[in-house]
Amino acid sequence: MSAIPQNLQAVRDSIATAAQSALRDPQSVTLLAVSKTFGPDAVLEAALAGQRAFGENYLQEAIDKMDAANAALPVVLPGQLLEWHFIGPIQSNKTRAIAERFDWVHTIEREKIAQRLSEQRPPHLRPLQVCLQINISGEASKSGALPQDALMLARAIATMPRLTLRGLMAIPEASESLAQQRTSFRQLRELSEQLQSQGIELDTLSMGMSADMQAAIAEGATIVRVGSAIFGKRDYAK
Ligand SMILES: *Cc1c(COP(=O)(O)O)cnc(C)c1O
Repeated sequence: MSAIPQNLQAVRDSIATAAQSALRDPQSVTLLAVSKTFGPDAVLEAALAGQRAFGENYLQEAIDKMDAANAALPVVLPGQLLEWHFIGPIQSNKTRAIAERFDWVHTIEREKIAQRLSEQRPPHLRPLQVCLQINISGEASKSGALPQDALMLARAIATMPRLTLRGLMAIPEASESLAQQRTSFRQLRELSEQLQSQGIELDTLSMGMSADMQAAIAEGATIVRVGSAIFGKRDYAK
């Protein structure tokens, strides 16, 4: 028997516990199930256990999985839809498919990519919901815009008709220390507050993964992106 339903419940419980100890409403934290390297069966199992939002990093893998999961969905869960979030690095030749297939993109770090996504977002779909990825821990991670460029990027995205800027996202350097984890997440929250004080409307902080979601929730995460705690250890060799 698969462990996905129990794992999912355990993750929901720890989100609720972390939220309560931060005096936050557990409902203010959305769980994004990161299904990369796992197949459509795993997605459908999680969906049957009540999960609706899924995160993917690799475009081709994601598209194959979405096609299979969406084809089975009307049988497994009639009338229900899944929400798909792109959370991987974006190459400019992949923007069209991302704009056509995803509901959210968390990993915008350049204006040029945002521009392409806006131009390529089909008119019959709701605007693409996007987050700016910020490089919080400096040299450790190479992805993400520099904090000092965030305001300029946010202002540029605000003018793009087919994108809705929702917030900031970061993948801080992994640390065993809760204090260090909180410092990185706090920096992202403070940057978000700074942008809001400059007139940028933001309601999302996408931060925290399996190993550090408690610290992220303590610092105000509104979306936690959790993979291995739900689906198990990833095997990239497959
Ligand atoms: C893989 C991945 C996750 C999930 O990581 P886990 O440690 O398995 O929870 C979250 N966010 C991003 C951007 C990822 O690439």
